Amino acid sequence: MAKIILDAGHGGADPGAVYNGRLEKDDNLRLALAVGELLEQNGAEVFQTRTEDVYDSPFEKAQIANREGGDFFVSFHRNSSPEPNQYSGVEMLVYDKAGRSAGLAAAINAELAGVGFQDLGVEERPNLAVLRRTKMPAVLVETGFLNTDADNRRFDAQFDEIARAIANGILKMVGLADAGFAPEENEGDKTEELPGGSSGAGAQERLYRVQTGAFRSREQAEDLRDRLQRQNYPAFILYDEGVYKVQTGAFRRLDNAVRMEQTLRRQGYPTFITT
Ligand SMILES: [Zn+2]
Repeated sequence: MAKIILDAGHGGADPGAVYNGRLEKDDNLRLALAVGELLEQNGAEVFQTRTEDVYDSPFEKAQIANREGGDFFVSFHRNSSPEPNQYSGVEMLVYDKAGRSAGLAAAINAELAGVGFQDLGVEERPNLAVLRRTKMPAVLVETGFLNTDADNRRFDAQFDEIARAIANGILKMVGLADAGFAPEENEGDKTEELPGGSSGAGAQERLYRVQTGAFRSREQAEDLRDRLQRQNYPAFILYDEGVYKVQTGAFRRLDNAVRMEQTLRRQGYPTFITT
C-alpha cells in the first residue's frame, strides 16, 4: 500500500506568513488534514507530521518523515510576496526537477490549475530542509499567496475542490483511483503499481508497461535501468529474443501507464507503452 507523509508547514510559535489576521500555519493544517482524509478514503496510508498547532523545525520534520518511511512526502505551505496582491497562483517546490518528485509536482500543478489557480510552475529549491533531508520523493505545495485576496477567496470558496485536486495529483502518481472523481470505482477496481511487473500478474490480466529503450547490449540496458532507478522509477529489464528491453511499471490501468509515460518523456526519455 502506498504510504504518503503529509506535512502541514509551520505551527506553534511559527505562524508562517501572516496577512490581515490570517495565519499560514492554520491554512496549511486544515488543507493537510483534508487531503489526508481523501487519500485514506482512496486506499493510501497517510502519516501527518502534525495534527495540532505545534512546532517542529523543517529539519526535525524531515527526520520524522524518514523515521516513518513513505513513498512520497508532501509539505503544505502558502506563498507570500513582499507587497500584498502582487502575485497570484500555485507553485511547487522540489529539490531538483528529476524523477518522481518532479512527476508529482507536475501532477499536483495540473490538478490545481483545473481548479482555477494560475500555474506558476515548478521551482528547484535544493536548500530547503524538508526537500533536501527527506529520503523519499518530496514536493512542497504553495497553495496560492496568503497576502493575495483573490487567492484567499479561492482557497476558502473552493477548499474541498482544492483538497481533492491535491489528493488526485498524489493518487495519480501512486497509481490509485482518483479521489472523489470516480465514484463508480469500487475497492476491487483500484489499481496498484506492481513491483517489477514480473510477479503478481494473472495469466489473463493485461498489464501496461512503459518502455524506454531496447538494446542488444546488456550493459547498456543495465546503465539505463540503473539511471531510472536512481530517479526512483520502478524500472527493470525484460530479456526478449536477444534484446534487453528496459521498462517501467507495470500498471493495470492504461491511464496510469500513460501518466508514467508522460512523466518519463518530460524527463527526456524516449518512450512507448507496451503490454
Ligand atoms: Zn510556509
